[in-house]
Amino acid sequence: MIKIKQNTYKYVYGPVPSWRLGSSLGIDLLSQKSKICTFDCIYCQLGATKTYSNQRIAYVHVDDILRELRSLPPKIPIDFITFSGRGEPTLASNLGIAVKAVKALRPDPIAIITNSSTMDRASVQEDLSLADFVIAKLDAFSAETFEAVNKPSDMIHFENVVKGLLKFRKNYNGKFALQIMFTEENKKYAGKIASLSRKIAPDEIQINTPLRSCPVPPLSEIELMDIKNHFADLNVISVYEGNKTYVEPISDSDTLKRRGKV
Ligand code: SF4
Repeated sequence: MIKIKQNTYKYVYGPVPSWRLGSSLGIDLLSQKSKICTFDCIYCQLGATKTYSNQRIAYVHVDDILRELRSLPPKIPIDFITFSGRGEPTLASNLGIAVKAVKALRPDPIAIITNSSTMDRASVQEDLSLADFVIAKLDAFSAETFEAVNKPSDMIHFENVVKGLLKFRKNYNGKFALQIMFTEENKKYAGKIASLSRKIAPDEIQINTPLRSCPVPPLSEIELMDIKNHFADLNVISVYEGNKTYVEPISDSDTLKRRGKV
């Protein structure tokens, strides 16, 4: 394993082990003290959303991201460079510019993890289409469950989220996964969420439950296996079966910061 000297990076974090992505080097295009998000999910490990954000804004200069990436060793054993971080990455208006710039700098495939709330916007679809792998959140099957689990801003409507997912799926050429976080709140709707997932027809379904410390407890492995049965005809993986690759972080403190722990 390559030993990476610990430094403080402001926008780049990891590599971190990810059950969905193997070893992932993260980029946070938001990098604000408080999270920037359209949602206030009941399981969010970053704490409550103080003020909802709906507008796309450039929070970070792409040149600053590139400067940090250039300071890394040229060969780090990673599977993906992932745009995620403290909030919803598609709220960064320079996401597409950043993806193109990172691709020009490094050969690693790019993943973006989104909460799907802005996918009905053409500019967001355009930016996401530049990634090799898009992982999109879908925790609900109806406006009521959406309100109960994701607590969206008034500007975000479930029907538009679903329309955005369907349209993006139709046009996107990369790998597309739906990630579903199950808790007590939505576990009884697994069958209905599976039906909606079938209509969206992703390449992969990722069934999750909050294993890291957060305001709600995780479901057990047995409960998640029961839920998985509803998705049996799809390409499905659950967090309990995921890859537990160990990777050495660039900076432990930065990784914890991105997880809302400092
Ligand atoms: S979408 Fe992610 S960052 Fe936003 S509230 Fe939900 S869990 Fe937190």
